[in-house]
Amino acid sequence: MKLSIVVPCYNEDESLPELFQKLETVMRRHNYDYEYIFVDDGSTDRTVAVLREMRKHSDRVGIISFRRNYGKSAALNTAFRAVDGDVVITMDADLQDDPEEIPKLLAKLDEGADLVSGWKVDRKDPISKTLPSKIFNAVTSLVSGIRLHDFNCGLKAYRRDVVDTLTLYGELHRFVPVLAGWEGFKVDEIGVRHFKRKYGYSKFGARRFFNGFFDLITVMFVTRRSLSPLHLFGRIAIVLFTLGVLPQIFFLFQLLGGKGLHVRPVMLLGFVLIIVAIQIGSIGLLAEMITSRTAKESTYAFKEYAVRGETGPPRRSDVVS
Ligand code: UDP
Ligand code: MG
Repeated sequence: MKLSIVVPCYNEDESLPELFQKLETVMRRHNYDYEYIFVDDGSTDRTVAVLREMRKHSDRVGIISFRRNYGKSAALNTAFRAVDGDVVITMDADLQDDPEEIPKLLAKLDEGADLVSGWKVDRKDPISKTLPSKIFNAVTSLVSGIRLHDFNCGLKAYRRDVVDTLTLYGELHRFVPVLAGWEGFKVDEIGVRHFKRKYGYSKFGARRFFNGFFDLITVMFVTRRSLSPLHLFGRIAIVLFTLGVLPQIFFLFQLLGGKGLHVRPVMLLGFVLIIVAIQIGSIGLLAEMITSRTAKESTYAFKEYAVRGETGPPRRSDVVS
């Protein structure tokens, strides 16, 4: 069994040497067959130089370097297309995740899980991050039906099938367990140690809290195959249409009964509801038509990222530019 260790790095030059040492210790102690894929996400510090230095020490080090900062999802996505291992481990570059947890993640995979997600039980981050994250996790768990405590932990272990199925873009990396779970993979979690950030700064601010909720809606619509736009919009349209038509029927009977036709506020409200219903229904129909067409090509929107260059293992021709 071969392991692919995937590490997205955005301006992490100070942390990388120490991370590499720790990883090597664990890999050697357990005698794993392994490779590294470090993705430099358009870093502006010495990250690339440090990675090249690491490659001098070990030809297991693979480097993919982006021309600009595309974000963590893009970094993971590109690495997922390049992995050679049977099992993929992802972890952050900033030393907040503990490489010593890798054997435990693998043990959980052996028990039958397809994806094992870390759970930062005792999270060492400021409250400005932990509190929004608690709400985010609770809502995501509720809406997605995937019962996890910590969706966005950087430390995860995947069977190869899982990463082959995933297409990540934007900020979808936060929903990896949801996407995998909905594809029918068995998702599990284990508590992992978490450390304070030692060097550098966090790349994700409070802004991501709101983005997270927009992304949850995207995830539901774009990736949840069972949720059809016309089913949802159509239902809303039928309710509004019925509410709008009822008063008109009443006024029609009044007219037929010889009571004449009087414009009433409720009549105008009814007309507005009918128009809104038709618009919402049409939006649902349009969305449905677009979905059914694109669904044939791919389930998720797909985006290519410009890779500046890459060195080292592995070389699947589709990622080398
Ligand atoms: N990261 C990345 N691209 C980005 C932002 C972050 O590759 O645009 C990497 C970053 O280098 C780190 C991981 O994603 O390895 C998690 O980022 P960070 O530690 O800043 O997030 P936090 O732990 O504060 O949630
Ligand atoms: Mg971090």
